[in-house]
Amino acid sequence: MIPFSDLPAQHRAIRSELDAAISEVLESAQFILGPAVERFERKFAQYCGVKEAIGLNSGTSALHLALLSLGVGPGDEVVTAAHTFIATAAAIEYTGARPVLVDVDPERFTMDPSRLEAAVTVRTRAIIPVHLYGQMADMDPISAIAARRGIPVVEDAAQAHGATYKNGIAGGLGQIGCFSFYPGKNLGACGEAGAVVTNDASLAQKIRAMRDWGQLQRSVHELPGYNYRMDGLQGAILGVKLPHLAAWTKARQRVAKRYDELLAGSSVAAQLRLPRPCPDGAHVYHQYVIRVRERDRLRDELTKRGVQTGIHYPLPVHLQPVSARLGYKKGDFPVSERLVREIISMPIYPELTEEQMSKVVSATEESLATVAT
Ligand SMILES: *Cc1c(COP(=O)(O)O)cnc(C)c1O
Repeated sequence: MIPFSDLPAQHRAIRSELDAAISEVLESAQFILGPAVERFERKFAQYCGVKEAIGLNSGTSALHLALLSLGVGPGDEVVTAAHTFIATAAAIEYTGARPVLVDVDPERFTMDPSRLEAAVTVRTRAIIPVHLYGQMADMDPISAIAARRGIPVVEDAAQAHGATYKNGIAGGLGQIGCFSFYPGKNLGACGEAGAVVTNDASLAQKIRAMRDWGQLQRSVHELPGYNYRMDGLQGAILGVKLPHLAAWTKARQRVAKRYDELLAGSSVAAQLRLPRPCPDGAHVYHQYVIRVRERDRLRDELTKRGVQTGIHYPLPVHLQPVSARLGYKKGDFPVSERLVREIISMPIYPELTEEQMSKVVSATEESLATVAT
């Protein structure tokens, strides 16, 4: 049995560090924000090469507060990718603004910059590129269009901790970067958590206030208030995990490279399209996604052979039932619509062994042989 992810293995390796950090929070009873969260915020801002990080209770809250801090509200439009996790679009809708979608590039899986300009209107108040699967969107042309129109860029970096693009790092290229520390992300808490990063002190001040009931000074609620604070326990756990992230990322990249070799040399190589990361940055492989025509049958056969896989995601945003109110229809984003039928996420995590990878590849060969007959 090869699980899709193996967090228990990660936690076993750093168990004594985690235990000590958790005990410290229990002893101090600083359960909401507090010193462990502040320490993590400082370290995470450094990691992203920015001035400020603000610890929150989820990546969705990060997107929501990022947009609110920029003044996004009812009547506005926010442009994002059609192929993303639903949270990106949901956070736009929380503000009362309307999500406007752009198709993705078929190789990169991220917002196609050549289609961005056509989606921008006089009502566009922000652009949210999503660094899907651990590879950053093509930021130069996106930032150029945004700059020309004076529109802020908010990065959805929920899947891209430490990913790079040219000289930049995920979260540091837009006005605001949004991260999730959902347990399964490359840097994961032991519960819900997220963060916003920015170099803009005034946006940071607003976001800090809004996460804690809009208080700029204690008990005076000046801004719209939310209960979006990070837990002390999550701050402590993330503080333990962050120094290990670089090694975990290298391990993910090694696994991806080995999958590349094994799958390219397999008997079913001709039926697969392997990831082709762009040479303009470092992919951190939150997911290792391959494309195959007989995707659903491959997935079923792999499951029968004990190999767990995922589909990220089976429907693009505009075809999700909840999006009916946006008024899009089938055919509006053909690249996203084709990708979601062909993508399958293979097991990838830092602890994945050579033996497990070989099993995944031989199970893939057997599965596609079965499919062919
Ligand atoms: C996980 C994720 C989010 C939401 O993060 P949560 O912490 O689960 O709220 C947003 N966008 C993308 C692309 C994600 O993968």
